[in-house]
Amino acid sequence: MVCEHCHALSEDEARYCSRCGSSLELFSKKSRTAALILCIVFGTLGVHRAYLGKWWTGILQFLTFSIPIALGIASFRWELSTALLVELCAFGIILLGNGIWVVIDASRIVSRTMTDALGKRIG
Ligand SMILES: [Zn+2]
Repeated sequence: MVCEHCHALSEDEARYCSRCGSSLELFSKKSRTAALILCIVFGTLGVHRAYLGKWWTGILQFLTFSIPIALGIASFRWELSTALLVELCAFGIILLGNGIWVVIDASRIVSRTMTDALGKRIG
């Protein structure tokens, strides 16, 4: 088996590369079903990305949801002004981006092209 990282040849039954020590398994050990459920239920909070070990993008996904919601609630007034409308529109666009990101993640999990933090596809 050829290592994806250093291209060294290892025995076929080897689980780790004999030269660089990286895993030779092609698929992630993470559950695809669990990732999909987390993505559908808590996707906007980035929980599925954290589950796959992608902590930084998971946190970023969480922030693109929580910050506009928190600031939107904090700045909301019943008397709408132009400044407030612009602000709420900006938050709405960020939320829309977050939503599109989650839909893309879900479709990647369904189509088996989503990878974990090690770059291995989730079976
Ligand atoms: Zn290697």
